[in-house]
Amino acid sequence: MQTNMETLAESRIHVPEIPRISRKIDTIIVHCSATPEGANFNASDIDRWHRKPPFNFRCIGYHYVVLLDGTIELGRHIGEVGAHCAGHNKHSIGVCYIGGVRKDGHTPKDTRTLPQKEALLELLKALKARFPTAEIRGHRDFSPKNCPSFDATKEYSFLSDNQ
Ligand SMILES: [Zn+2]
Repeated sequence: MQTNMETLAESRIHVPEIPRISRKIDTIIVHCSATPEGANFNASDIDRWHRKPPFNFRCIGYHYVVLLDGTIELGRHIGEVGAHCAGHNKHSIGVCYIGGVRKDGHTPKDTRTLPQKEALLELLKALKARFPTAEIRGHRDFSPKNCPSFDATKEYSFLSDNQ
């Protein structure tokens, strides 16, 4: 039987309902976890890392985490200020995909799988529907970093232009 990778991926993707919150959101910031290509980490791993040095956050700093198979996991509640982009946390939402560096563990690379790309897009569409004036940016637009290892502003500009 023929299977279609794309169809399978779409059927797996479930975008969580985006709650109404009182916090003003003007930016949606895309990140990578800076973990090696193919390494299957998840939101609870990041939660564990963020509670320890050098972060010492009270919990995971991102609001959403997109796994290799396209699963969208919840991180910190979007009603709460995140901890993901210095100077820009108060009015933003942080979305992180797992990956972002080569297997060597440090060279930046857009490692997104097809399901991750689809899930990221669906999640960003849902967030834009809830926060229509929010702009989608990459972490690197605010900080001298490579995160998220691709040009998120450019890739998702069509979502902002279609308001
Ligand atoms: Zn980042």
